[in-house]
Amino acid sequence: MAENTRIAIIGAGMGGLATALSLAKSGHKNITIYEQALNMGFVGAGIQLAPNMARILDALGCWNQIRDEAVQCANTSIREGTTDKELGYVDLGYVKKKYTYPHMVGHRASLANGLYEGCKKESGITFKLGSNISDVHFGAKPRFNVTPSQGGETQQVECDILLGADGVKSSTRVAMLKELGLTGSARDSGQAAYRIMLTRDQMQDDPDLLKLIDADTVTRWIGEKKHIIAYPIHSKQIYNISTTQPDVNFAGAPDAQYTTKGSKKAMLEVYRDFCPMIHRMLNLVTEGEVVEWKLRVHDPLDTWVLGSAALVGDACHPTLPHMAQGAAQAIEDGAVLGVMLSPSQIADGKPETIEHALRLYEKLRKPRAEAIVELAAENGRAMHLGAGKAKEERDKTFAAMKSGSGKVPDKWADADIQSQIYGVDVVADAEELCRKERRVARL
Ligand SMILES: Cc1cc2nc3c(=O)[nH]c(=O)nc-3n(C[C@H](O)[C@H](O)[C@H](O)COP(=O)(O)OP(=O)(O)OC[C@H]3O[C@@H](n4cnc5c(N)ncnc54)[C@H](O)[C@@H]3O)c2cc1C
Repeated sequence: MAENTRIAIIGAGMGGLATALSLAKSGHKNITIYEQALNMGFVGAGIQLAPNMARILDALGCWNQIRDEAVQCANTSIREGTTDKELGYVDLGYVKKKYTYPHMVGHRASLANGLYEGCKKESGITFKLGSNISDVHFGAKPRFNVTPSQGGETQQVECDILLGADGVKSSTRVAMLKELGLTGSARDSGQAAYRIMLTRDQMQDDPDLLKLIDADTVTRWIGEKKHIIAYPIHSKQIYNISTTQPDVNFAGAPDAQYTTKGSKKAMLEVYRDFCPMIHRMLNLVTEGEVVEWKLRVHDPLDTWVLGSAALVGDACHPTLPHMAQGAAQAIEDGAVLGVMLSPSQIADGKPETIEHALRLYEKLRKPRAEAIVELAAENGRAMHLGAGKAKEERDKTFAAMKSGSGKVPDKWADADIQSQIYGVDVVADAEELCRKERRVARL
């Protein structure tokens, strides 16, 4: 019975959770998620919930809960970091009309919890928290070692389908590519991010800052080699700030280190040339609570699939945050796997049928996810321009927006680019691809 196919998912991030839920909704009854963390303690930071993500979450039955805790963005304001002068403004009201779902922003914990709660309702999903996966062997029946994160006996587990949703540091990716004689290590993007959350109480005494937390605005302050993006979350009780700057504070850190305890002084120094209001805002961060994340990427992989195993999310397409699409793309992966691996698609349960289904997943997802990876990198380059011809051109395009020109230099807010991202229903595309395959098979 195909619904009893043993599916192992490594990693309970957004990609792993969405994949498990999609597979359970498609009828699978034997899904195990292995997560090295002992509990589902979700990172405290905000996240943008784009319409292409919302469409999938709604179909999986967990959007309403996430939406109820989120804030709708009515507009976006792109400003010069040094002066706070507005360069461009986009009313995002059309997003809901055009794509059914508005552009929302929320708390990561709320998104992850919504997916986790959805998974817990499915009897076909088992969580193995505190389980560290290593030594993955690929082939028709993938095998891997499971070691309790707190120490203890290692056990070898076999499955019929293995999905590596183990994030940008993915050891599944490294093992898969090694088997193919390739390397799959992530590389530095040269950029790092501070993630900061200020409470309404902290901003209370500063009228300029209060205006920010009260607005339904995603604000981006841009400058040479850096920018800050910020928006209110949690019913406007928290102001979420995410920055990007050169990763100089990681110089000398071991390659595998992705986060470092940042110094508030160093953070203020990086944004020294930004306007006084931004200084006041960054200065509210509690000393000792500054954490800096190194942003890592890798070049497009030769493959995401080997035998009955495939990669999901940041494990195969880590995306810089400049289009706010990394988690959305991981969730799209999960939704497409739900279609391609549905029990009816792999009815005979044969390894070659499973591999074929995984190849269809890759065929549909790889070009789209990799195009968005490139788009995000490009947007970072455009937002981080220093003085020169390219910046003058960019700022002219910003100025032209005021007279109604449609093009927005911040690609995240550009209607044409949004339509390529929000306007694509990957589930419908996956179903269509399956139908096409069946027609070809009948010929
Ligand atoms: C600053 C910043 C801002 C961002 N903003 C947005 C945004 O606004 N919108 C958006 O859509 N995306 C955004 N993203 C991207 C998004 O956060 C990621 O793309 C997404 O979280 C990736 O999910 P994932 O499940 O693929 O990987 P992860 O979330 O990294 O999950 C991987 C999981 O695998 C587990 N794991 C790893 N190795 C093992 C092992 N050996 N055994 C067992 N478990 C293991 C880990 O513990 C982890 O729980 C942002 C990213 C950054 C850095």
